[in-house]
Amino acid sequence: MAAKTSNAFDYAPAPESTAIVDIKPSYGLFVNGEFTDATSGRGFKTISPSTEEVLAEIAEADAADVDLAVKAARRAYTRVWSRMSGAERGKYLFRIARIIQERAREFAVLESIDNGKPIKETRDVDVPTVAAHFFYYAGWADKLEYSGYGTGPDGPQPLGVAGQVIPWNFPLLMLAWKIAPALACGNTVVLKPAETTPLTALLFAEVCQQADLPPGVVNIVTGAGETGRALIGHPDVDKVAFTGSTEVGRSIAKAVAGSDKRVTLELGGKAANIVFDDAPVDQAVEGIVNGIFFNQGHVCCAGSRLLVQESVAEEVLGKLKRRMKTLRVGDPLDKNTDIGAINSAEQLAKIRELSEVGEAEGAERWSPPCDLPSTGFWFPPTIFTGVSQAHRIAREEIFGPVLSVITFRTPKEAVEKANNTPFGLSAGIWTDKGSRILWTASQLRAGVVWSNTFNRFDPASPFGGYKESGYGREGGRHGLEAYLR
Ligand code: NAD
Repeated sequence: MAAKTSNAFDYAPAPESTAIVDIKPSYGLFVNGEFTDATSGRGFKTISPSTEEVLAEIAEADAADVDLAVKAARRAYTRVWSRMSGAERGKYLFRIARIIQERAREFAVLESIDNGKPIKETRDVDVPTVAAHFFYYAGWADKLEYSGYGTGPDGPQPLGVAGQVIPWNFPLLMLAWKIAPALACGNTVVLKPAETTPLTALLFAEVCQQADLPPGVVNIVTGAGETGRALIGHPDVDKVAFTGSTEVGRSIAKAVAGSDKRVTLELGGKAANIVFDDAPVDQAVEGIVNGIFFNQGHVCCAGSRLLVQESVAEEVLGKLKRRMKTLRVGDPLDKNTDIGAINSAEQLAKIRELSEVGEAEGAERWSPPCDLPSTGFWFPPTIFTGVSQAHRIAREEIFGPVLSVITFRTPKEAVEKANNTPFGLSAGIWTDKGSRILWTASQLRAGVVWSNTFNRFDPASPFGGYKESGYGREGGRHGLEAYLR
């Protein structure tokens, strides 16, 4: 199973034990504090993307199940949660945060198995950030009056029932981004995880039971697009929160138009990672690798367009290629793995197709020599040079470990090229000069701009996009606004 690129050191296998997780043969829906069967009796399978083994059978919620979940959320909202003091709500959220920390290893292993991402990422990034998010919003629950959204009788009020739909790339982290602020503000939720990665959301449902969260405050309905459609279209949902593709985001915006539902959409991206000629090159190379190969490039804010100043392009690309040869692709549960499995056969087909388009359009493709495992879904770390702005690989989100490299000569040209995209989620700037960071950041039309770093997340910092990357902000004080009247 262990695959590595040609220059990688030979490490002994360092497999994480799976003994800590107990994957059941089948899972029901989590409604009103209990696991229940789907009314239709229908289900679907979730598989391990690294081995293609079936992990469990998952109940598929239809409109009738979604209705039961929304009714449970409404009851819990009216009778319990919206009447509780902020301090009491905060206690539950602190308890959930602590249980996640206590069960961190279990969550990390389960996420790696179901999603395919490396254990070192789930263990060191996803799960700690999830706990941090719950701690952060637990702290806001009794301080909403001080959040800047009004005081006294005009003070912050919850919206009611939130219908939340999330993608597969950060299953537990996206759940935390949705559930923590909603609950802190006094709303109840019905959340639908992505169909390829339901397991950590269902483990989170067990955490809600363990924390004695009042029944109905959190409900989890599993299923695919149809289940999501039923949830966002339910007439008793007050607030729709969606993270996923721009295409589905557009259809949701249309579906709720004309209703009084509040909506936030966190959609795709095609971030520019800009390397100026005075950048600390070795540090920038690490940032480029982190920007595009972290989580197999399944990252909405991935630095998927490298804009490098022409005078240093050769040096940067030489060092980047050398670094890419040391990346270890393979078993997500090996602690040395840098790049795990692609999440699904469908996503792998999309990455392959767009990469073939890149070659057909005349860009030059390069990957380090890399033996990939024979079962499971894999794609080697890849860069394209000679990319022009009109190429599809420069414009469309590939959502895989594929970097498009574009050069520029002046800062003005860098900014023009960076902004020449339908998206506007994130960007990176690498330079030695503070003044250049500030000037460039002020010119970029992107929700998040990192300087001399990339892919940094903090619960106190708002996140969200411009243009086709969606609207609304998650995280920080700004993230409360989406869940308050
Ligand atoms: P997707 O849009 O296909 O699916 C996202 C979720 O929506 C899934 O749970 C899916 O079942 C559900 N869904 C599908 N059709 C639906 C419909 N008609 N109505 C309601 N729900 C529906 O996206 P994906 O492939 O799972 O995720 C990848 C995308 O997510 C990428 O474009 C990525 O950029 C984006 N993303 C954005 C952010 C952000 O914060 N901006 C974060 C992570 C991922």
